Amino acid sequence: MSPTPHYRGRFAPSPTGPLHQGSLVAALASYLQARAQGGQWLVRMEDIDIPRNVPGAADVILRCLEACGLEWDGPVLYQTTRFEAYAAALAELRIRGAAYDCGCSRKEAGAGVYPGTCRNGLAPGRTPRSVRLRVPGGEVRFTDAIRGVQSEDVAAVTGDFPLLRADWIWAYQLAVVVDDAWQGITHIVRGEDLLDSTPRQTLLQQLLGYPTPSYAHIRVVLGADGQKLSKQTLAPAVDLRQPAAALSEAFRFLGYAPPAELAACPPRELLQWGVASWKEFLRPV
Ligand SMILES: [Zn+2]
Repeated sequence: MSPTPHYRGRFAPSPTGPLHQGSLVAALASYLQARAQGGQWLVRMEDIDIPRNVPGAADVILRCLEACGLEWDGPVLYQTTRFEAYAAALAELRIRGAAYDCGCSRKEAGAGVYPGTCRNGLAPGRTPRSVRLRVPGGEVRFTDAIRGVQSEDVAAVTGDFPLLRADWIWAYQLAVVVDDAWQGITHIVRGEDLLDSTPRQTLLQQLLGYPTPSYAHIRVVLGADGQKLSKQTLAPAVDLRQPAAALSEAFRFLGYAPPAELAACPPRELLQWGVASWKEFLRPV
């Protein structure tokens, strides 16, 4: 890879369906913030949760980004090609005594804070079902560019969370942290639905000796029912026949309404205007 620039951002969709308006807003915000700083913008396909992947969705998402003029730097990184890197990070955590085998079923582990049943070794006769992080007590801090200093006692809020899930799928938290470090990501702009994952990711960065990127969590697009747009809520896909209209709507959501004379312009020109106009994130109201 080229030398680490002062700014390297990324957009990291999951291929569980086509791009919807909420994902387009996250893509656009991370793109504008990167390009306005003269930085790079990478795309990573978070296809780690294989049973949830929809065949063909990754390509549909990439075609949609292209149609919207959102050109990325370098090759797209697919998490399904990264299992060895996740295994190496897990081995590193084990060496440091920061990871342990857990023999609990999902029911035994419970939905809330993990009770720590297997923290000091598996009970006789139990076999490992998952691998958990031994979460140290104390506050984990990071600064969000929009919300300011954030702090959480991960041990109290989530407890020892999985690194390798009971279904033998790599946990999202581990994969994201390993890939952000490997890709040299310096700045992460994403939806506020991921704000509560950030203390766990910051903790993993500290335990693995990785730098912590700068974070900015933006307001997410809500549907008419007040729920976050997602494939689960059957959010409509971005209309590939009208990329400029979708892009304009995403700009408006970010508080940057394109001037009327740009209404009929192709996406590329809209983006040029956007990069030149982009100043800062607007604080959520
Ligand atoms: Zn357990």
